[in-house]
Amino acid sequence: MMGRQEASAQLFYDFDLERHVPANHMLREIDLFLNGDDLREALRPFYSHLGRPSIDPELIIRMLVIGYVMGIRSERRLCDEVHLNLAYRWFCRLGLEGDVPDHSTFSRYRHGKFRDSGLLRQVFEATVERCMKEDLVSGEGFAVDASLISADANKVRSIAAEDWSSEAAREAGNRAAHEYLETLDGERRSATGSRDCANAFGAASPVQPKFVAKSDPAAQWTRAEESRPYFAYATNYLIDTKSAVIMDVEATRAIRQAEVGASRTMLDRTEKRFGIRPDWLAADTAYGNAENLGWLVEKRSIIPFIPVIDKSERTDGTFSRSDFEWDEKNDLYICPEGHALKQFRRNYSDPARGQDTGGRKKYRALKATCQVCPSKEICCPKADARYVTREPHEEAREFARECRKTRAYKVSRDKRKKVEMLFAHLKRIPGLTRLRLRGPNGAKDEFLLAAIAQNLRKLAKLRPRSIKQEAAA
Ligand code: SF4
Repeated sequence: MMGRQEASAQLFYDFDLERHVPANHMLREIDLFLNGDDLREALRPFYSHLGRPSIDPELIIRMLVIGYVMGIRSERRLCDEVHLNLAYRWFCRLGLEGDVPDHSTFSRYRHGKFRDSGLLRQVFEATVERCMKEDLVSGEGFAVDASLISADANKVRSIAAEDWSSEAAREAGNRAAHEYLETLDGERRSATGSRDCANAFGAASPVQPKFVAKSDPAAQWTRAEESRPYFAYATNYLIDTKSAVIMDVEATRAIRQAEVGASRTMLDRTEKRFGIRPDWLAADTAYGNAENLGWLVEKRSIIPFIPVIDKSERTDGTFSRSDFEWDEKNDLYICPEGHALKQFRRNYSDPARGQDTGGRKKYRALKATCQVCPSKEICCPKADARYVTREPHEEAREFARECRKTRAYKVSRDKRKKVEMLFAHLKRIPGLTRLRLRGPNGAKDEFLLAAIAQNLRKLAKLRPRSIKQEAAA
């Protein structure tokens, strides 16, 4: 007989919310790794002990985590979903009757207590600590990369870069523009101590973008491969390659120099915060400039599994720089015919003499030697004498070239793909293809929340049982 669902007229229900959340629900697993007491402790100095109790900050964080884990991008929709969904109510400790905060609360908290206290970074670091406790981090090898995320800015409302001025932006009174100018001011002040920091949103590149978005001047007019140009920020990830745990995240302008600077900032911050400096770092060619390799090898003793940016190889059949042998002791190159190429043939007191603005040194052969040389036609057919240049940090570059020949490099290249997979996941599951918030702080907040969600998902997926066993013991 066909059944018929009748609307029940019962007045009182005995309802256990816990019983209605599936045992294998993702949020159940994630809940095991979120500690609300730590959040409240971090925010305690920002609350008065008098007056009406505020909305629990843990509730706001839990709702934001739902948004980024479940890919609910709109805060209005998030409020509706939390109101209606039993699992979300359970995760937020709202019960059946609890009130869901208004969507405007998120903005108030974001621009107020969360930003003042650096709470989102603290929550992110707590997830990293938990991953370390769960043995998901080896600290042996890291990988770094950046991905472009569209900014909430439109070409139609942009202006040519030469028409934009900081004074006009200040007068326009828009929050994202103010934040950008404040960030630049702050970074200029710190530039004396840290050039990397100054490059994140500031003068990383002397190249002026073609357009500036009036609503969000920190967004960079750029393009990814085979795409049309658009306004974007870059999210930078530093990951441990054992289980692809995100060790650090940084928002920057979508400029290569800023991304390289971010990789150094993240490496130093990870060492300072967690006491971990990796043995090796894997990255793509964008990170293979002389300055960065020098910093990694000489200052931090990190093995660079990074392709070297090298323009010294010739393709016209004439001798390349690699055909010349370097004699470190005597500071000269030996050409294939056995003659010396020297930087100076006299002694000078100025040690920087002979270097160009990029720190490159020029080593020249004697004109009289080259003119009578049998190899002149395949060495310097159009010049009187041959010279070769030596990049700054050439020892570090040479070391990186040697590293590239090892088996460990091939392994690191495969492991580096994990960071690209995280970016693919970021755009597909949390749906972070376009930022909702504007300005440097908006990008920082969104990237931090996305990284928190990704680390929590990782914990939920790889360590669901350990904590249950711990609780049962
Ligand atoms: S041309 Fe000059 S630098 Fe080149 S191989 Fe001959 S001597 Fe050496």
